[in-house]
Amino acid sequence: MAPFIGIDLGTTNSLCAIFEDGQPKLIPNAIGQLLTPSVIGVTAADEILVGAAAKELAVVQPDRCMAAFKRLMGTNRRVQIGGREFSAPELSSLVLKSLKQDAEAYLGKAVRDAVITVPAYFNDNQRKATRLAGELAGLNVRRIINEPTAAALKYGFHDRQAEKYFIVIDLGGGTFDVTAMEVFEGTLEIISTAGESFLGGEDFTNRLTAWALESQKLNLETAEMRHPQLVARLRSECEAAKRRLAVESEATIRMPDLNGDIGDDPEILRVTQKQFDTLIDPLVKRLARPIAKAVRDSRRETGEFQNVILVGGATRMNAVRNYVKTFFGVEPLCTYDPDYVVALGAAVQAALISDDRAVDDMVMTDVCPFTLGVEIVKEFGQHQMTGYFLPIIHRNTTIPVSREQIVSTIAPNQREVLVRVFQGESRKVEGNLKLGELQVSGIPPGPSGQPIQIRFTYDLNGILEVEAFVPQTGKKFAAVLTQNAGTLSKAEIEKALRRMQGLKFYPRDEMRNRHLVLFAERVVGEVASFQRDELESGIDQFEQAMNSGDREWFEQSRTGLLTLLSTLGFVYEDETQEETP
Ligand code: AMP
Repeated sequence: MAPFIGIDLGTTNSLCAIFEDGQPKLIPNAIGQLLTPSVIGVTAADEILVGAAAKELAVVQPDRCMAAFKRLMGTNRRVQIGGREFSAPELSSLVLKSLKQDAEAYLGKAVRDAVITVPAYFNDNQRKATRLAGELAGLNVRRIINEPTAAALKYGFHDRQAEKYFIVIDLGGGTFDVTAMEVFEGTLEIISTAGESFLGGEDFTNRLTAWALESQKLNLETAEMRHPQLVARLRSECEAAKRRLAVESEATIRMPDLNGDIGDDPEILRVTQKQFDTLIDPLVKRLARPIAKAVRDSRRETGEFQNVILVGGATRMNAVRNYVKTFFGVEPLCTYDPDYVVALGAAVQAALISDDRAVDDMVMTDVCPFTLGVEIVKEFGQHQMTGYFLPIIHRNTTIPVSREQIVSTIAPNQREVLVRVFQGESRKVEGNLKLGELQVSGIPPGPSGQPIQIRFTYDLNGILEVEAFVPQTGKKFAAVLTQNAGTLSKAEIEKALRRMQGLKFYPRDEMRNRHLVLFAERVVGEVASFQRDELESGIDQFEQAMNSGDREWFEQSRTGLLTLLSTLGFVYEDETQEETP
């Protein structure tokens, strides 16, 4: 059978898994790690770096790198990196391509088919942008599934015969999703889902970064423009402090100078767990609404959820755990590593699609996370008011689903209707997200009230198709939702593909060494000045040895550099390949 991979394309990290020998397994990347940071770099030699190496480069040369581009999916924004311009799907495609190569190296076979996960709360534009990213990476995206659903599949896979309700709380790097579901004799039924597309671990790091900058009388937004190196290094310090605060009661942050160097005697900021909790309290409070909404929509009581599952690295924060625990009154479950569970679930989904015998007793149903509909005009006496929203598919309807509604013309002899499609929960369209529009023409002349049938079809990928039908003429119209950033014409896709194929990737088999060099270069800015020369000469030696082709010298200088780094207190971790869960 052709390999079929599952991919968790995260804001912060991405992962790839395969269903093999009846089990989902994670695939290590070029440097032996399971998590590939979703960071892209363009080197001075115009080579594309993906993952850990790009993340190291981002600390010292932020203008050559980009992270968190998942947040731009579904928008028309283009970003400049090292003199090149990219759209968000293009950047995501580089991450996907790198994971595809890792899978190919691991399996020793070409890989085409993939399941890619997205936050449940991703809208139609964002899903289409994700599918486009897959296409640009040379993948055949067989299914797009929701991250919490994937997490539930991993749990459901191991606990198939259970009979219970459970809720998945998924706080990733950039998004927050809550999903309620029922497991019953191998059937996993998603009942409701809610979330926020712009709330994740990165916001917590940003809050801490802003606080550290405030202590220097600096403001995050201004500093980001004026002193990008300072902010990049400080953010990396704050990220580490945030993680320490998940296990310790206090953490320190070394304040870099305006050039982003930490140097000999940096100012040390201390932050206690309590201070951090107060700082992030407004963010934690934002978890309440989606949780309450998902519970309400599930028509269950909070106490009926026997299992509360935590997914996404940001659920490791104590304040988040405590909040969830208090809300549901049970200790949240973290049986499987919250960083891995989505990718593993995506591989289970791949097994379901390819009818793998190991999952032939499992069935899964998902829901549409938001209401989808069209704009209508309402009549109040003599007055016609535009801007009202007519729902066609209600949120939390089981998918796939196809629903029809009849609308009508509002004026005599009206020959055309512009069907404007929206998603959201407001009764007026201005509060909802416009997905696109569909021009319906050739309506026969006549009084107002001529019917037009509108059909919405929401597929298993969470992608919407809109059709209109004029009964008198029998004419059908299918929507090209023009507003959609993810919808490119065939010619535009071809062009983007050629552009992506023209990029030069940093060679995969040299990535280990490159990563070590970039790691050491980042450390140069963090050691005392008397240690700097020695470290720089260690890096120079290693680089020369890398280019010399002299194996013995190469091994010696690599060991030398690793020892030096560890003497300076920086442990380089590429060799510590994690156990594949
Ligand atoms: P994900 O998108 O699921 O990979 O989530 C990554 C997010 O989890 C990032 O914002 C990380 O900063 C955050 N994260 C990972 N580990 C920890 C930890 N130990 N404590 C706090 N946040 C963490």
